[in-house]
Amino acid sequence: MSADARPASDARHAWSQLARQDPARRSAPDRIADFLEIYGFYDEVAAREQASRCVQCPEPTCVAGCPLGTNIPEWLALTAEGHFSAAAQALQAGGNLPEICARVCPADHLCEAECVINGQAQPVSIWAVEQFLNEYAFAHGLVQPDVAPPNGRHVAVIGAGPGGLACADGLVRRGYAVTIFDHRPQPGGLLVYATPEFHLQRSIVERRVDLLRRQGVNFRLADAEAEHTPLTLLLEDFDAVYLALGAKQPRTLDAPGHELDGVHQAVPFLLQAGTDSAAAKALVGGKHVAVIGGGDTAIDCARAAVRSGADSVAVVYRRDEASLPAMRRDIDAALEEEVRFLFQAFPISFIGRPPGVLTGLQLVRTEPGPLGADGRRWFVPTATSFSLVADVAFLALGFDPAPLPADSPWQALARTPQGAFQVDARQMTSLPGVFAGGDLVRGPCTALHAVRDARQAVAGIDAFLATRTDSSEPKER
Ligand code: SF4
Repeated sequence: MSADARPASDARHAWSQLARQDPARRSAPDRIADFLEIYGFYDEVAAREQASRCVQCPEPTCVAGCPLGTNIPEWLALTAEGHFSAAAQALQAGGNLPEICARVCPADHLCEAECVINGQAQPVSIWAVEQFLNEYAFAHGLVQPDVAPPNGRHVAVIGAGPGGLACADGLVRRGYAVTIFDHRPQPGGLLVYATPEFHLQRSIVERRVDLLRRQGVNFRLADAEAEHTPLTLLLEDFDAVYLALGAKQPRTLDAPGHELDGVHQAVPFLLQAGTDSAAAKALVGGKHVAVIGGGDTAIDCARAAVRSGADSVAVVYRRDEASLPAMRRDIDAALEEEVRFLFQAFPISFIGRPPGVLTGLQLVRTEPGPLGADGRRWFVPTATSFSLVADVAFLALGFDPAPLPADSPWQALARTPQGAFQVDARQMTSLPGVFAGGDLVRGPCTALHAVRDARQAVAGIDAFLATRTDSSEPKER
């Protein structure tokens, strides 16, 4: 049945009659030859059909599962009825950087995990309808610079990662002038510097940055001065400041042999693979690669190693397959790309040969242990050990908060015992007019949570400046 012929009322029961169908992905041999995105997009018929599987819950659990509280049923209903422009506009208006958030969102752990039809059938393919709508919006000229008349206020945003970009987007939509500072030469933060293009193509980030520029956002890149300027001085030039720098550092593994030549962190390799393919190929080409970890960074690293010519790639994860925190669609893609998974295994040492070159890993089997405080089951080592041949090992063990440099002017801000900045419900720090979000407040967090904090901060800055009773003049020049 064509999309136009199907009555809209079918949508209430479509989930039981229509299987979930994700967009096709390129064949593994095709996609490992480059770093580009692997999924296509729904056509209009498929988008309508898949959106029609939503039953329009009166109290949608998918929304509760979304860190951004996106009004998912609204644009699913509009899509199911074929009102693509209205659906795309609802999605664009409901958030910041939606086309970027959709690409890095682990939907299978969030909204789709909470979808009410889960368990009776496959959940609604929310992520793929969202991708369709975002690209529909750009293709049909529905995404235009969105600004309000200038309100005379000027805000400095420090950090051009997802939180900083989202904050700037929200502020210019309220009439603020915004200057973003970042010490890196390109905007995007980890979206650009640690996310491989098969996850998020640079062109997608550049498209959004170009839009922000057309909205009047001023970028001061390769410029660390603002990070080293006392906040009270910044507040002489700006009405408010939003601190959005990433502040995470990769965890290490202090096992014997960790200093061997061939043991590396995963994040620098992801950066290298995305910016200097010759160096990445020189590092892993023709080699046996082991990646230790089970999150998105581990799977990204494994797939980047495949694309960089590794002879074999194995992911070593201490828990079982069901516990893998990475996105399911990425795990499936990795399996198709011949990444091997070793579950319930943990390295106890790195093995080398003179003069200090890695040749393998010594691993122990693990078995399920007691439940941890986070509700996840511990996996404890057993007496069974075995070895794995590896010329290169990448550590992808998660992140810890990065300590604030001793000479940072931000040391003056109140912090929690864990070192995070204390903020109130408006995201304002202990210094009035200075706001913060993302890693600096939460510890290592996702891009989605950074965007959520930024949205909260936009409302907070607006409320703070609207009620300020001092006599300071607006700082826009
Ligand atoms: Fe639709 Fe699932 Fe959300 Fe219910 S939980 S509104 S079925 S997407």
